[in-house]
Amino acid sequence: MTVVSEPTCRTDALITLRHDWSRDEVLVLFELPFPELLFRAAQVHRAHFDPAEVQVSTLLSVKTGGCPEDCSYCPQAQRYHTGVTAQKLMSTQAVLERAQAAKDAGASRFCMGAAWRSPADRDIPKVAEMIRGVKALGLETCATLGMLGDGQAQSLKDAGLDYYNHNLDTAPEFYGEVIHTRAYQDRLDTLSQVRDAGLKTCCGGIVGMGESREQRAGLLHALATLPAHPDSVPINRLVKVAGTPLADDESLAELDPFEFARTIAVARLLMPRSMVRLSAGREQMSDELQALCFIAGANSIFHGEKLLTTGNPGVDRDQALFVRLGLRAMGMPGKVDNAAHTMTNPGKTVQRAVACDAISTATLGVRSDSCAACPTIMP
Ligand code: SF4
Repeated sequence: MTVVSEPTCRTDALITLRHDWSRDEVLVLFELPFPELLFRAAQVHRAHFDPAEVQVSTLLSVKTGGCPEDCSYCPQAQRYHTGVTAQKLMSTQAVLERAQAAKDAGASRFCMGAAWRSPADRDIPKVAEMIRGVKALGLETCATLGMLGDGQAQSLKDAGLDYYNHNLDTAPEFYGEVIHTRAYQDRLDTLSQVRDAGLKTCCGGIVGMGESREQRAGLLHALATLPAHPDSVPINRLVKVAGTPLADDESLAELDPFEFARTIAVARLLMPRSMVRLSAGREQMSDELQALCFIAGANSIFHGEKLLTTGNPGVDRDQALFVRLGLRAMGMPGKVDNAAHTMTNPGKTVQRAVACDAISTATLGVRSDSCAACPTIMP
């Protein structure tokens, strides 16, 4: 039996980017005592990011349902009876209205998802028009459209796309338990096209689908040994949607919340400079679990009441959680001392008698019209 020593995660290792993790090393990290794992992940998080900042993205389904693929977790697969009604590609105008609303609610990145196996060439100019429009609003752009054919990644890049999302979903050896209509290698090929076009990659997976801890380690190992670490790593916790095979599997137990937090922590240790994103499944998480995940190195969330077709915490719940935890949306200046309802910017402190939009401004970037007239709002 090979003995794998514990990977070093201190001093120099805090800032070292590695692409040569062995799978056994990843598993050793998973098996650290929980407080030690979170402590190490928090150290690495601080070496690369301000731990009080969380990047906020919004995800919009621009083409819903009717997908020919058979992903066992997905309510948009046309072969499952989940109550999702297939819709055509949205108009650019409608997408831009939603993007503006997302920006007004504090999002800095706007992701557009389409339930396609892969986009037809005739769809690319329509999506490109959306990307140009969203970009013109001052938002980062991300798209998830399925597998990409030759030249499509470049066309999206030319339109101003910043990120392309394409998840590995799970470990290579568990993949066939979940998806049968395309291969792991297809996913790797699309990621390769995305990188070659100079797009940033958003790539993660789903946990809680019945995989073992070894297979969760396998997913993170696959992500961390890609030629470049994904810029964003969404970690989804399975949402069981009635009508999908995984929801109908009564033997499938809920993933232990601590195991989910472990997964976040190991992702942070393996990919120190990536944005580790809490994605699907957040609505079902307690505030306490989300707080543990932020400690473990998660620094990105999807914001808004829907994630494609599944639920997501409401804006109010997120705002309240950010205030309770003293977090703020990435890119927003200032700090919030919620106990005193005090906001501090360099050289300027404003005392608020009551919570108001100023708190929202610092936490999620929300600024209402009344803020403009407020004598105490900071520049
Ligand atoms: S996850 Fe994507 S590719 Fe799979 S069925 Fe759903 S929409 Fe289709």
